[in-house]
Amino acid sequence: MIIAIDGPAGSGKSSTARAVAARLGITYLDTGAMYRAITLRCLREGIEVDDTAALATAVATADIRFEDRDGATRIFLGGEDVTEAIRSEAVTGRVSDYCAPAVVRQKLVEEQRKIALGRSIVCEGRDIGTVVFPDAELKFFMTASPEERAKRRQLDFQALGVVKTTVKLVAEITERDRKDSTRDLSPLRKAPDAEAIDTTGMTLEEQVDYIVNKAVAYLQQGNGTVPASNNLNP
Ligand code: C5P
Repeated sequence: MIIAIDGPAGSGKSSTARAVAARLGITYLDTGAMYRAITLRCLREGIEVDDTAALATAVATADIRFEDRDGATRIFLGGEDVTEAIRSEAVTGRVSDYCAPAVVRQKLVEEQRKIALGRSIVCEGRDIGTVVFPDAELKFFMTASPEERAKRRQLDFQALGVVKTTVKLVAEITERDRKDSTRDLSPLRKAPDAEAIDTTGMTLEEQVDYIVNKAVAYLQQGNGTVPASNNLNP
């Protein structure tokens, strides 16, 4: 079974997707982390976003892996744990640029499909229900007001020791949404058959319960099973 969760930054999809996967005992795949890892590599190596050849090589040789450690998923780039580094302001500020070229998207979508092969998965991103898994059994598109999303980002930043005003966060989120929704390839969009969930005013628990209940109802109708193997790397 594939559960696709898309939505803009701060809509609650990452925390929800992670918790839904844990409750159902299936794999959680954060595709944004993969785009962030590529961005980190390009920034470190001074690869410009319009240098298609260098970008293609960087993606082809990236060796991105996920590992579950002490109940949390960590991401590795070429063997280095970059879980915290990919959340830096430098990466967040440029990821919407580096994720847009076809050479990046094609390769990462291929990797995402490989990870899902033969296992049940909760996959979250921007193009999961539209492009990566258009046949996903359950699709959700999570939204929330810009203010609510900024508030959630503020909590993320506080945990990293970074102080940002709500006004600045709303501006950053709106700009990232604009880039993600207007790019040529796989723009952020609700799939026609996805269910929209406005999470403004909903608690994390409510969001998780809602999707878990849908998944359980789907499975109870005899529509699918959860495979025993849910190792993160193909
Ligand atoms: O989900 P997160 O905010 O970590 O994603 C970081 C960025 O990666 C998004 O703003 C978007 O530009 C890009 N992304 C994407 N397609 C996905 C997941 C993320 O373009 N499936």
